Amino acid sequence: MIIDSHCHYNLSPLLENWSKYWVDAQVQNVKGSLVVGTSVTTSATAVELATKEAGFLASVGVHPDTITADQSIETVIEALEKLAVDPHVGAIGECGLDYFRLPNSPQADEIKVLQHEALLHQMKLAKKLSLPLIIHLRDTNNDAYWDFFSILKLVEPLNKPFILHCVSGPAKFINLCLDRGAYLGAAGNCTYKNADLIRSLLRMSPKNRVLVETDAPYLPPQPYRGKICQPAMIHLTSDFLEQELQLTKQQLLENTLTVFPQFGNQV
Ligand SMILES: [Zn+2]
Repeated sequence: MIIDSHCHYNLSPLLENWSKYWVDAQVQNVKGSLVVGTSVTTSATAVELATKEAGFLASVGVHPDTITADQSIETVIEALEKLAVDPHVGAIGECGLDYFRLPNSPQADEIKVLQHEALLHQMKLAKKLSLPLIIHLRDTNNDAYWDFFSILKLVEPLNKPFILHCVSGPAKFINLCLDRGAYLGAAGNCTYKNADLIRSLLRMSPKNRVLVETDAPYLPPQPYRGKICQPAMIHLTSDFLEQELQLTKQQLLENTLTVFPQFGNQV
């Protein structure tokens, strides 16, 4: 039995055929999925899907890559807050910092500041509504990870855990997050040949702090690297975690149910 802790049925090309992808995933024993928003629009779609499908729970948030210099973060957060009170919402995110895809222009610094602002507001919203946070962090060096940590300190203590989705980053940072109750999201890229760093982070984590996710349509597991990731492929990541990292399916399921007890109705 598998619960996908991070999937984008709300994004193209999954959205157009979401019910087919969901049926295919269920054939692989997937019983539930967190459908994760990346903007106000895709968060609204996540809520809509979770209203239609009992196996889905929505997460509403603004992904750092969707933040542009002409945006009013205040307006975005107001819209998110309206969506977040829906009973089909079980998390805030994905939110975070992404310095990897910043434009190579004078606007980059401005966008960085907006990313910080959006992250802080979404953390405050999660705290206010007592919801877990789905965190996206990406950088070519370690700045984004430590900037996240400084922002986290401003809102601590959170009252629900945060998930470092598609985990990456320096081991020291990951350990400090684990000390603060974080969970690590293992996506299909942990199966790649060159992913020793990701695997070492997962090995270092207590076994009760790892969740399995697809991040579909992104990051398909081997041997589908480079293709569109389908939610049904999660069984390959799950098998890999069991065989290579001794993380059993039962353990992964229990971990997910600890963070998202709402899925208890599906298993
Ligand atoms: Zn994602």
